[in-house]
Amino acid sequence: MGRDDTESARVLYHTYMKLSIGMPITLLCLFAPGLLVPRLAAAEWVERVEDGIMGTRITVELWADDKAKGEAAIEAVLAEMRRVDEAMSTYKPTSELSMVNAHAAQGPVKISPELFDLLNTALDYSRVTDGAFDITYASVGYLYDFRKHVRPDEKEIKAALPGVNYRHVVLDPAQHTVSFTQPGVRIDLGGIAKGHSVDRGIALLQGRGVAHALVTAGGDSRIIGDRFGKPWVVGIRHPDRKQEVIARIPLEDAAISTSGDYERYFDEGGVRYHHIIDPGTGHSASKVRSATIIGPTATRTDGLSKTAFVLGPERALEIYNRLDDIDAILVTPDGRVLYSKGLEAPTK
Ligand code: ADP
Ligand code: MG
Repeated sequence: MGRDDTESARVLYHTYMKLSIGMPITLLCLFAPGLLVPRLAAAEWVERVEDGIMGTRITVELWADDKAKGEAAIEAVLAEMRRVDEAMSTYKPTSELSMVNAHAAQGPVKISPELFDLLNTALDYSRVTDGAFDITYASVGYLYDFRKHVRPDEKEIKAALPGVNYRHVVLDPAQHTVSFTQPGVRIDLGGIAKGHSVDRGIALLQGRGVAHALVTAGGDSRIIGDRFGKPWVVGIRHPDRKQEVIARIPLEDAAISTSGDYERYFDEGGVRYHHIIDPGTGHSASKVRSATIIGPTATRTDGLSKTAFVLGPERALEIYNRLDDIDAILVTPDGRVLYSKGLEAPTK
């Protein structure tokens, strides 16, 4: 997210509001004071930035009729994200997901409808992406610690790799259980849970009647409505130069996810080891530097943003172009910016 870009738009917007509707409000009050004054006078953008939930930065920004109501809605979104984190983090030994990893190789484990549905969606994305998105990447992925510059050697990768295959995860819809077909399988939802939590947050805001909002968790965002006649503008950063924006995307009622090899990584011997893993090799997947996906939900854009790293831009664009509800912007290792079919026309 290019927060700096939207910042200037917001400043302009506030100025515009004050100048243009200050007068009409006064006039309208004479005719319908009870109806209009409290509503318009108190309406404003309410925003919160919170670090730490799901190991990332959460931003919630919304247009509220009433500031206190807006704050309460944001609080509810953050609470929902904490709840998702508690259930789906592999860093928390007590999470539902950790229970699954501990027991599913021995037999079916009963899970919540929410986790069941998300696992089902994750397996669906594995099929759509020819196995590039694969939550069992964790069978080898757990051997990496990017913060501590720890990586497995070839022998360790070879030993762990048989555990990586989404077909090892078996869901039973009748019993609402999950099991693994063999030992050595681990799953991790780091590639989809942030998107899911953003969608949960958005649903919550919609339930409270919020009509203009942005919810972001790390690289995953979703937007309700527009910014009063103008789209929200989301910037895609340059892979190496943090402050540089390579594309600005106007969005309304949409989700957008960016994955990059600059998010969690270390460099060693001229090689970048980063957090997106090729399920076929167990190594970091480096066929693009960044991938941005635009689509209807953040679960979907999050789940699909890893594909290009694994399959490369050509194969990934074939897949994205086949999906009617998806657009993509890829940055290749040699610095080219590639657009999917739906975005090509306006840029020419
Ligand atoms: P963020 O965590 O900032 O949203 P991404 O959306 O790019 O970043 O997701 C990266 C995460 O996806 C990794 O940290 C890891 O948990 C998970 N992951 C890595 N490789 C794969 C893969 N091949 N398939 C599914 N998930 C993956
Ligand atoms: Mg993500």
